[in-house]
Amino acid sequence: MQFSLPDDNDPRRLEVREWIQSHPSPSAGQLAESGYVVPHWPRPWGLDADPITQLVIDDELKRANIRRPFNPIGIGWLGPTIIKGGTQAQRERYLYPMLAGEELWCQLFSEPSAGSDLASLTTQAVPDKDVYIINGSKIWTTFAHVAKFGVLLARTNPDAPKHEGISYFICPMDAKGITIRTIRDMTGRESFNEVFFDDVRIPKENLVGEENRGWEIAKTTLSNERVSLSREGVMWGAGPTSYDLIELVRGVDGEKITDPLLRQRIASIYIKEEILRVLRLRMVGARVMGHTTGPEASIRKALADAHGRKLMELAMDIANATGMIHGGGPLAGLIGWEKGSGDTWGKHRTLAANDWISGFLFSPALTIGGGTAEVQRNVIAERILGLPRDVD
Ligand SMILES: Cc1cc2nc3c(=O)[nH]c(=O)nc-3n(C[C@H](O)[C@H](O)[C@H](O)COP(=O)(O)OP(=O)(O)OC[C@H]3O[C@@H](n4cnc5c(N)ncnc54)[C@H](O)[C@@H]3O)c2cc1C
Repeated sequence: MQFSLPDDNDPRRLEVREWIQSHPSPSAGQLAESGYVVPHWPRPWGLDADPITQLVIDDELKRANIRRPFNPIGIGWLGPTIIKGGTQAQRERYLYPMLAGEELWCQLFSEPSAGSDLASLTTQAVPDKDVYIINGSKIWTTFAHVAKFGVLLARTNPDAPKHEGISYFICPMDAKGITIRTIRDMTGRESFNEVFFDDVRIPKENLVGEENRGWEIAKTTLSNERVSLSREGVMWGAGPTSYDLIELVRGVDGEKITDPLLRQRIASIYIKEEILRVLRLRMVGARVMGHTTGPEASIRKALADAHGRKLMELAMDIANATGMIHGGGPLAGLIGWEKGSGDTWGKHRTLAANDWISGFLFSPALTIGGGTAEVQRNVIAERILGLPRDVD
């Protein structure tokens, strides 16, 4: 199954090319103003572009080797939430610097005792004149140590049922009373953090939506996160594809791959990737037809994350004992899956470095971050198959 894009002389292509000609090395700000960072967003931040136009713009930017600004969490899923639930003043203040990558964003949702069961969170926000006073702690907050702002979920009514007493805030990460402690993951990188709040004062104007109605807004954020985390490349849109794996095998094993078991495993990974590609096309197709995709993103995420782990495990098996040597062995000489990398990850590969060993060490995180594999299955069971709800 192929999905052909409009041909070379399509007026939509010509328009993008004309812009690129007048901006051959666009700054992040020019890209943000052009609408090409998020063509699917409404104007003035995006272009209200239909899915085909979005694909055309992606294609033309790629051809011209233009990378979009880096702000994966902000642009990927927090921005759309602020558009939907925020005030006009919030949209005007935060969205352009977000799109230009000038202000990096993070997501302060998970807590030590509230991950999958996020609605059990206990961080408190108590109103006091024109501020809310925040106390509590968050964990696994990607980019908290470098972010300018975070979106924060906190409980404003401890007596209400758990989904009904939560509010959604924009939190300046340099506010007095915030302590950030970096966590080193097993790749050796420090990309996520613990964040502690001690009497942190957040202005009331930073509340997004209504007080105690934050859960509804958080659900928009979480569903956008699932779509964002299911692009090509097995590391949440970055990382290698099975084509890169085949190149790796050839590099290690020579042109002819003779081991029958290895051939079988590669074939199985290749088949899974084709299934994922077709699922992705189905999602794009649904959007072209004007349908929105919802829980279907959970199907793709559930399959894609397990596939990513399998692919990285196979790469490690191919390397054999030398795969244990970081910076050495056959894999070290075969670094690179540039062509599979998602554009936003280009400059800062904080999460998934573009080498096989770091990728392998990071890959268990795929089935945890953005909602675990089990939680995705619950979503599929309840919202697609109509099975009884999980216990609360
Ligand atoms: C790389 C990475 C980046 C992250 N970045 C962020 C971030 O920026 N901001 C943020 O807020 N969080 C972030 N997280 C946290 C992530 O959202 C949580 O780790 C995830 O939601 C799981 O929560 P938990 O770790 O508390 O595990 P738990 O919820 O305690 O789950 C433990 C195990 O129990 C299973 N389980 C739990 N509930 C059920 C159920 N109802 N049915 C079946 N099985 C169940 C889970 O699947 C899992 O296997 C990140 C995580 C990773 C790995």
